[in-house]
Amino acid sequence: MVRMLIGGKPAEASSGKWMEIRNPATGELVDTVPQGTSEDVHRAVAAAEKALPEWSGLPSARRGEVLRKAVQLVHEHEGQLSKLLTQEQGKPLGESVRELRRFAHTLEHYAGLAKNFRGSHIPGLDEGKYGLILKRPIGICGAIVPWNFPVALLGNKLGPALLAGNAVIVKPASSAPLTDIRCIELLCEAGVTPGALSIVTGPGGTVGEEILRHPAIRKIGFTGETRTGKHVMEVAAQEIKRVTLELGGSDPMIVAADADLEAAVSAAAVGRFYNCGQACLAIKRLYLFERVYDEFVAKLVEKTKRLKIGNGLEADTRLGPLHTAAQREEVEQQVADAVGRGARVLVGGQRPEGPAYAKGHFYQPTLLADVPDDGRIVQEECFGPALPVFRVKGWDEAIARANNSIYGLGSSVWSRDLAQAMRAAERIESGYTWINSAQTIYDELPFGGVKWSGLGKEHGSEALDYYTETKSVVVGNA
Ligand code: NDP
Repeated sequence: MVRMLIGGKPAEASSGKWMEIRNPATGELVDTVPQGTSEDVHRAVAAAEKALPEWSGLPSARRGEVLRKAVQLVHEHEGQLSKLLTQEQGKPLGESVRELRRFAHTLEHYAGLAKNFRGSHIPGLDEGKYGLILKRPIGICGAIVPWNFPVALLGNKLGPALLAGNAVIVKPASSAPLTDIRCIELLCEAGVTPGALSIVTGPGGTVGEEILRHPAIRKIGFTGETRTGKHVMEVAAQEIKRVTLELGGSDPMIVAADADLEAAVSAAAVGRFYNCGQACLAIKRLYLFERVYDEFVAKLVEKTKRLKIGNGLEADTRLGPLHTAAQREEVEQQVADAVGRGARVLVGGQRPEGPAYAKGHFYQPTLLADVPDDGRIVQEECFGPALPVFRVKGWDEAIARANNSIYGLGSSVWSRDLAQAMRAAERIESGYTWINSAQTIYDELPFGGVKWSGLGKEHGSEALDYYTETKSVVVGNA
């Protein structure tokens, strides 16, 4: 029984109820967490209101030191935390370690910005008057996090929010809250003012909903499905809350005839199958120029066949289970829909067989050819290890089909003609384009989608703008 953290203290739910967290690879019980209620959110808000003057009143350099201390603690506990993350989420242990390091890197990044966190001075506005632009924390922020990268996506919100002097109430995903709770404990141990950081576990429909509705919570940082994001925006509008929405994606990858094929094949395999395909930034549609189509597909099929499926705790596992049974069923339905419309399965397309896979939500890594553009797997987000591959005549067709999506999160292009690749980057409708690079996130660059993929930015110094209010002051002669 793991407890939440409210006002710096371990807390049980006012409902007295608990939720089970099960291992997606084995079905075994990992632990239980409190089934929080709206009353528990009220307790967290009261604690945050009490803590806010002290936390926001600290010099930002001091808050940066607290983040740095938390980074050190996360590194010290990396072994235990990464094992827990694999048990509750399903991903291979190596990926859990990388996620923990990414979390630490993000906190470190914002700690590093502490001494540059400043407003500005505008002299001579008018005779005898000057202007100041003040940067102030927003107040209490809600951070709502999904299950696919529960720790990394938590860091994206906590780093800028805490550095800017806000209090934060975290609502983790109901199926993967354990590592988040441990990380919040470490941040509190590092010196965040008790109450300035709380975590309330419980269903989105109650705990999440109360965070959206509570008038004292002035900002929502949300990562999750587009459908839920629309709801977040609607409810937040009632209180004119600030929102940052990081939502679904269907990232296209375009490979031109002159691309470095070895590197591009590797980026496609990692880009689609990392985290068992459950990534907003996964490569979800692959557009190959005709001249390289056959060679590229043959290489990718070979690579895909070599991916070892298994329990994430086993050292040679490259592909863990899907996180839930429902998630696997959705991918199966998207693949069946494509096959029903005439697609060919190049590799995979079913559940792996054998006793090792009987109790987990495993699915083979899958490549599909000849999927029509109106197939569900093209039109919807596919949040699992299945990738449709398309043949295109050239840049114009590739870019037009890449843009034929409600989403616009990431995209990648592969070509040795950098001028052509840059023109493509300008034309593709997405918040991020990688040229001749795997789709890796950098804390130094702002990240966020266009179209139905979201609103606002995380990462970069830009993220601080989403956790501060900018206030203007005019000062005249006394
Ligand atoms: P969901 O939208 O189902 O859930 C996300 C979070 O919102 C969970 O904590 C959930 O709680 C909570 N929630 C659910 N309903 C409500 C509500 N009514 N009010 C407030 N909170 C609520 O998304 P998933 O967890 O399924 O995450 C996968 C999605 O996230 C994919 O679409 C993926 O693309 C997207 N994503 C986007 C990223 C980006 O940066 N753009 C990055 C990673 C993922 P509970 O668990 O209790 O239901």
